[in-house]
Amino acid sequence: MSARCLSFSLVCWLGILQVPPAQASESAEEIVGWLQEYIQIDTTNPPGGERAATDYLAAILEREGIASRVFESPEGRASLYARLEAPGGPRPAIVLLHHVDVVAAGDDWAVEPFSGRRWRDKVWGRGALDVKGLGIAQLAAVLDLKRTGGTRGRDVILLAVADEEAGGGQGARWLLEAHPELFEGVEGVLNEGGSNRVLNDRLIWWGIEVTQKRPLWLRVTASGRGGHASGLHPHSATHKLVAGLARLLERPMTFRVTDAARMYLGTLARLEGGRAEEIYRLIEAGDGDELPNLPMAPGLPVYFLDTIQVTEIRNARGSNVVSPEAVANIDMRLLPDTDSGALLAEVRELLGEDLEIEVLLEAPEAPASPRDHPIYLALEEALSVRAPVVPTFISGTTDSRFFRQRGIPAYGFSPFGVNARDMHGIHGKDEAVPIDAFLRGVENLRRFLRIYAGVTD
Ligand SMILES: [Zn+2]
Repeated sequence: MSARCLSFSLVCWLGILQVPPAQASESAEEIVGWLQEYIQIDTTNPPGGERAATDYLAAILEREGIASRVFESPEGRASLYARLEAPGGPRPAIVLLHHVDVVAAGDDWAVEPFSGRRWRDKVWGRGALDVKGLGIAQLAAVLDLKRTGGTRGRDVILLAVADEEAGGGQGARWLLEAHPELFEGVEGVLNEGGSNRVLNDRLIWWGIEVTQKRPLWLRVTASGRGGHASGLHPHSATHKLVAGLARLLERPMTFRVTDAARMYLGTLARLEGGRAEEIYRLIEAGDGDELPNLPMAPGLPVYFLDTIQVTEIRNARGSNVVSPEAVANIDMRLLPDTDSGALLAEVRELLGEDLEIEVLLEAPEAPASPRDHPIYLALEEALSVRAPVVPTFISGTTDSRFFRQRGIPAYGFSPFGVNARDMHGIHGKDEAVPIDAFLRGVENLRRFLRIYAGVTD
């Protein structure tokens, strides 16, 4: 296998999962054990309870002679920060970022969701993939750097933050606002958000996320006179809310081609062909107006749309009671360059002046992270021996946006080549990471970090 593989040749594609598992200085057993124990600490958000998990990471770092600090937000949410300075440092730094919190496990799991059980060649539990597995891989890569020594040209910061799953207000966003001094000299961030294409255990491409859609979450409240449901209440709070939401949902969907969609569809067209290639050709020919008429694979339209999703409606007082208040939550996801002020004004008009609107979460525009950056180039060097490395645009949201908003490039990268069927556990039930893929991911991250940090033995 050639050392570098920047073209998308068959030779590259055959490289796939053939590289031996972890060569790091830590043993595979030790690293898998950390993941099991990390999952066993329940950090369901809300309430989060991240302190026990950050203390756990701090104890491992301390044993290895790496000092760390735990910062608590005003609401008592804990995030851990450790900076491994290069000899003769400080030098330009990378932040290896992951979030400590997880979403609620829900019911009907095959295993206890916080057991961290090792079963059927997988480690099971909430957070195995989103995203404690990444956190442990980052930890192992940092410890490897420390244990094996060598000269380095970069500082490495390990950052484990609270509250990502609820918007990051008590985690990454708070830390950047309250402690900007921690990020002096940071030239970029490596975070969750990467999405690799794996088909039947074969890695097709590595997807490095460089830009994402922006959340705009609203709470809409209608008020009216309450009473007995046997009376006549045509203008009840609930009726006003339903009518406003109906007007909003009838808003025509406007497909729009952004630079981000062009980049992502270009990637899919080149590597996968088929429908993506057809769509991309249309875009390039300037026929974007045809997009709404095209049959698209599920999941693709969101890359051309500002989406509006009503996610919650509440007014429960009983079937025979007219509630004086009705509330809806709306989750909107905006394209990277949408004018959020103009869209919000349109939404207000459609909902009607009777309804009260509160913005729960919003994200300003942020530039896409460049591909000629040392982090992206090091990822290409470390990964392209096995499969092409391509930039992607995701419809989800990560803490990367807080860094991009401050002009710090951030990259979403998953070092794990995991089959799509194993990804279904994310935010669902039976979340598990195959141990083999996990350990190879640890090795991928270790290799990237040594290249990026310019380690010379
Ligand atoms: Zn996550």
